[in-house]
Amino acid sequence: MLSRSTQSLTAARALTAARSAAALPTVASRAARLAIPPVPSVSASTSTGRWFSSSAVKREHESTRPEIDTPPSLYTFTEDEEMLRESVRKFAQEVVGPKVYAMDEAEQMDPEIIQALFDQGLMGIETSADHDGAQMSFMAAIIAVEELAKVDPSISVMCDVHNTLVNSTLRLYGNEDVQKRFLPRLATDTLGSFCLSEPASGSDAFALQTTAKLDESGNNYILNGSKMWITNSAEAGIFLVFANVDPSKGYKGITCFALDKEMGVTIAKKEKKLGIKASSTCLLSFDDVKVPKENVVGEVGKGYKIAIDILNEGRIGIAAQMIGLAQGAFDKAVAYTYQRKQFGKAIGDFQGMAFQFADVLTEIEAARLLTYNAARLKEQGKPFVREAAMAKYYASNVAQRASGMAIEWAGGVGFTREVGLEKYWRDSKIGAIYEGTSNIQLETIAKLLKKDFV
Ligand SMILES: Cc1cc2nc3c(=O)[nH]c(=O)nc-3n(C[C@H](O)[C@H](O)[C@H](O)COP(=O)(O)OP(=O)(O)OC[C@H]3O[C@@H](n4cnc5c(N)ncnc54)[C@H](O)[C@@H]3O)c2cc1C
Repeated sequence: MLSRSTQSLTAARALTAARSAAALPTVASRAARLAIPPVPSVSASTSTGRWFSSSAVKREHESTRPEIDTPPSLYTFTEDEEMLRESVRKFAQEVVGPKVYAMDEAEQMDPEIIQALFDQGLMGIETSADHDGAQMSFMAAIIAVEELAKVDPSISVMCDVHNTLVNSTLRLYGNEDVQKRFLPRLATDTLGSFCLSEPASGSDAFALQTTAKLDESGNNYILNGSKMWITNSAEAGIFLVFANVDPSKGYKGITCFALDKEMGVTIAKKEKKLGIKASSTCLLSFDDVKVPKENVVGEVGKGYKIAIDILNEGRIGIAAQMIGLAQGAFDKAVAYTYQRKQFGKAIGDFQGMAFQFADVLTEIEAARLLTYNAARLKEQGKPFVREAAMAKYYASNVAQRASGMAIEWAGGVGFTREVGLEKYWRDSKIGAIYEGTSNIQLETIAKLLKKDFV
């Protein structure tokens, strides 16, 4: 294992190494990319006499039209984001890829992969360099989650929950002391879990029943209760737990606590699942767990607000997982159809197939643009909640459709476990369930759209 000081440099090194090792094409500077060529002026008096012309003939006034300062497309990334995408893509294919089948069969996360994610700097993407993180953008986290999901949605959700829920909660709401004690470990060697749901409170998350009572000394809270379906919890060492300090106040008693596993977090049961099997999902119990009051994250009684805000952002991460999944299934299946021959030609060359590819790819593209748009709106501090809900809702539908179609395109072999297409389909179902079911996303979108009318 690398030393702490070596690890703190890893993310930056990973990017630098990716630049040279992958011999990437030079990425144009942002300024160069923004230098948009003049848009040709087309008028009824052009030589063709057409308003819209794709002709190579130079049009009148072409050189006199002033440049328009147009915002960049949603496919505009910083140099670091582009480098990160290349390095995560390579990592996913070369390091994760060979282990996907075995991890899914064993329903276990390979510890070497978890360590490799830390070594690559992928577990503290937005965390500041002061806290041993990579200090990159939210979009960088979205890109990493997307690229990992192309190869394995289980690894992807592990990285997603750790970054967009656990790290973000501490980064955005933890005081300096909490950040100093937890963020460096989360960036270098300790996996995190976000513990909100309970057996009786899923969609209705704030009906949670876990309690946190101040002890007689007034220095510690005593936690009692249980949490259900908690991602990463079998391997995690740090747990963000939402508990109610005063149930008489309803949701206004909900408070967020940062716990070390050693404080007494017990894994009561590991769930067996339909998909994302390598990602652990456990039932946790808290039996008189003593938590120092210094471990409160944010303000006492404001945990409900933290959960709402963080899940609004987190949904963009799940959308990214779903578009990565959809693209991974699509790429694998379509490549196969150009190899497989029936009736004397590649099956991908039948129009009945090719039109389906075009249709599904259009949906994936639309889902990706919704996701990138929500991510950039969030980064720019603009309203993004409706867009994030749309992205998650749509991307999870697209993932189910794309992975289902991918199985059909590969025929019998797609239905077997041989090529891994059925795994994408099994993994896709969860997108419509966690971090707010599809109905909850629709409810959010509906509530916000009504404001435009009433
Ligand atoms: C694999 C996995 C990983 C998870 N990871 C985590 C985690 O890390 N941390 C965490 O805290 N939680 C986690 N969860 C929990 C997850 O967020 C919940 O399962 C989810 O919020 C739905 O809650 P529920 O399962 O209780 O379903 P319910 O709330 O019982 O919903 C069941 C159905 O009823 C519908 N429904 C409910 N209320 C309404 C309504 N008002 N209007 C219309 N329809 C409604 C839902 O849309 C759904 O179709 C995970 C779950 C799974 C399966």
